[in-house]
Amino acid sequence: MKYENMSAEQLNAEKDKLQAEYDKLKAEDLKLNMARGILSRKQLDLTQDMLGLLKVPEDCISEDGVDCRNYGMLEGIPEARKLFADILGVPVNNIIVGGNSSLNLMYDSIARAMLYGVAGGSRPWGVQGEIKFLCPVPGYDRHFTICESLGIDMITVPMTADGPDMDEVEKLVSSDKSIKGIWCVPKYSNPEGTVYSDETVRRFASLRPAADDFRIFWDNAYVVHSFEGDPADQLNLFEEAKKFGNEDIVYIFASTSKISYPGSGISAFAASDANIAFVRKQMSAQTIGPDKLNQLRHVKFFGSAQGILDHMKKHAEIIAPKFALIEKAFTDQLTDAGVAEWTHPKGGYFVSLNVLPGTAARVFTLMTELGIKLTPVGATFPYHKDPDDKNLRIAPTYPPLEELETAVNALCICVKLAAAEKILNV
Ligand code: PLP
Repeated sequence: MKYENMSAEQLNAEKDKLQAEYDKLKAEDLKLNMARGILSRKQLDLTQDMLGLLKVPEDCISEDGVDCRNYGMLEGIPEARKLFADILGVPVNNIIVGGNSSLNLMYDSIARAMLYGVAGGSRPWGVQGEIKFLCPVPGYDRHFTICESLGIDMITVPMTADGPDMDEVEKLVSSDKSIKGIWCVPKYSNPEGTVYSDETVRRFASLRPAADDFRIFWDNAYVVHSFEGDPADQLNLFEEAKKFGNEDIVYIFASTSKISYPGSGISAFAASDANIAFVRKQMSAQTIGPDKLNQLRHVKFFGSAQGILDHMKKHAEIIAPKFALIEKAFTDQLTDAGVAEWTHPKGGYFVSLNVLPGTAARVFTLMTELGIKLTPVGATFPYHKDPDDKNLRIAPTYPPLEELETAVNALCICVKLAAAEKILNV
């Protein structure tokens, strides 16, 4: 029976039962972690052979004859640029391949915009007074942290099943010059696993921002990361934007963090000719070149975009059962009570769980006291403020299945216990 339909007596009895289950778990002295979307040991092991691929000096030469042990090649080696070009559907010349972190590329892109402005823009963002970013919520905490640390105000936009609410995005972007960017995770979004619809992509491609220096930060972190079948088809933003003469407003990012290694992958920035030329000039003051040996290792290991897609099937085999376990536990244990809703992703790294409004912080505390780490409450919103105190980001990939099962069963108890307490006002 739904909690809201229970009598006070029934709900009190339910709460006592849950409290007893909770106390039993507490005695187990658990130490579990469902906090961050990171690769499990098994997933990291999939790429182990990559590390031994460069054995002799001849292995270190790129396809155009450059010795990758030396300085140079600011844009990355051609074969690594081609690899990302094929994955992202963007011409090779529009790709720059960087080090292990796409987040670093995003931070640098914004920091450069603050200092130098962007291609075609009149002035650096940093001298324009108040500047703002649109943040679809729930979203990725580290995007918000970049804005916060650089003093960029954040305006939230609700997510829908098709991506950000585009009526809201269009209204805001076309009417406010101080809005300089928007964060987007277009495929298997963090945390909901939403795939933006083609209509949403088209509307992004045809945006008419009031600011002449606006950019869409298209963080395609999970572009090939399906765990059920092939990655979802999605319209190509870069191509679509070109049709509207709008390609300069697009910045695309991706990395192999969740393909090879988060600690030692390679990343990519894709943008229009004008953007690449503008950014390249500033980058040439920043560095002489990236870690080309690691780029070479990646190309030799994966061979092609198809090689990456094939490799992702091995990741899927490991993580799909973890997502299935979460789905089953939530369905079996939370449906009847009617106190939670969750997403059903087919890719990415997270499940978004909405508990009874006003209880997420309580659930987090209950879990912490059991010794189970969750992503901090509020993390999916700018300034860590979830207005409804209801969203929790569940990251099932890291713990082994048995540990995950214990953790998710505990989570279901905590979600129900917190809901019963809230309804009973105790
Ligand atoms: N973008 C999104 C949406 C993510 O979820 C993550 C990691 O969880 C990152 C970027 C980090 O990417 P990278 O490891 O390439 O810096």
